[in-house]
Amino acid sequence: MSEESLRHYLTQVSEMMKEVRAVEGYRYQSMEEFLLAEGTFYSAEPLTAVEEEILRRVLRLTSGPFKTKECYANALRLVMASEMLRGVDLRYAEGYAQGAVIPVIHAWVVLNGKPIDVTWGENMIGASHNRLRSIAKMLERIKYNLASHAYCGFTVPLKAVYRRAVETGLTPTFLDDWENHYPLLRDGLPKEWRQLKPPKWAVDLLAKVAKDEGRENIPTLVWKRTESYGTAGFYSSLVNLISIQASRIADPTKAELLVLLHEIAHWLADRRGHSPEFWDKAWELYHRYGVDIGYARVREQYYRTASVAAYHRYQNGEKYQEWRPKGEPTRLADFADGDYIVCQLGKRYGRRSWYYGWVRQLFGSGATRYFEDTEGTTWNLAVDTEAWPARRRAERGSVA
Ligand SMILES: [Zn+2]
Repeated sequence: MSEESLRHYLTQVSEMMKEVRAVEGYRYQSMEEFLLAEGTFYSAEPLTAVEEEILRRVLRLTSGPFKTKECYANALRLVMASEMLRGVDLRYAEGYAQGAVIPVIHAWVVLNGKPIDVTWGENMIGASHNRLRSIAKMLERIKYNLASHAYCGFTVPLKAVYRRAVETGLTPTFLDDWENHYPLLRDGLPKEWRQLKPPKWAVDLLAKVAKDEGRENIPTLVWKRTESYGTAGFYSSLVNLISIQASRIADPTKAELLVLLHEIAHWLADRRGHSPEFWDKAWELYHRYGVDIGYARVREQYYRTASVAAYHRYQNGEKYQEWRPKGEPTRLADFADGDYIVCQLGKRYGRRSWYYGWVRQLFGSGATRYFEDTEGTTWNLAVDTEAWPARRRAERGSVA
């Protein structure tokens, strides 16, 4: 069944429901209307060889067959298994799926935007369906479902799935949640569940870097908006995937650009970790694609010497082999109001070990120093904190 016929069904039902029932204080009058507005029609593109290999690894960890009518539990088992595998990004998903007959509420998992359904299959009535254990045949089932059915839904973070399972003692259904008066229809999809489409600038930049570097096999780009102040990322060479966890403050020209290029450098440097070769590539990209260099110097300081050394090498047109350190980083005492600064995270944030902010005001003298950042937080600075002075900035940026 095609995406069009599923969309047509959802449209018809939601128009009908709007007329027959109007509940005060609800954003959506039906599950169908909610899905049309906030759901995703998942891709019907066939699996790549890499994706098949990921699924084989996940299936190896999920013992036992996947039975019909247990779609919630089946999906949950898959994402739990994927949690044990580093760099594998499977999402629990719910919504409407359309097989041969009318669309029904269903659960599956999502891999790189593709629906992975282990519950349905070509011959669900046959007795062998619920006993299937062969990984190769399970993969055939997944491919059959991908090619023959249409899926529209939304993904739920595993934490929320667990919470609900604990609270209700049942496998979850978030969509048809009558017990809690349909929170998704009332309020829409929670902000923290949102997996974003990677922004166009990021997709374009990745393609451009690949072209400029003469590289093929571009990594999959996954983009999430988090509730954290910091933007972070990782590159998994295993599945060739770059994942960006963007700060709650969208910041495409500063933190996000830097983090994306940092992860692209990991890809280009061929799994050498934070090696000198990696840093040479990273600073080359930062300069070539317009990263704010003053910001990058501070931001990358948590990698310490290796990063700053590569920065100086770049400035001097040197490569790792010939490089010798030229001078020490400047001490914090040399900072002035409005400079970039980096300081260790206090316990109150507790998410990452470093916090990036703007110095608003400096207090104290000598060894005893404090500063206030742009959020009005006062920071206590350790005596031996080191940072490099960056060029002064006229404007005061927000927290990145
Ligand atoms: Zn890194």
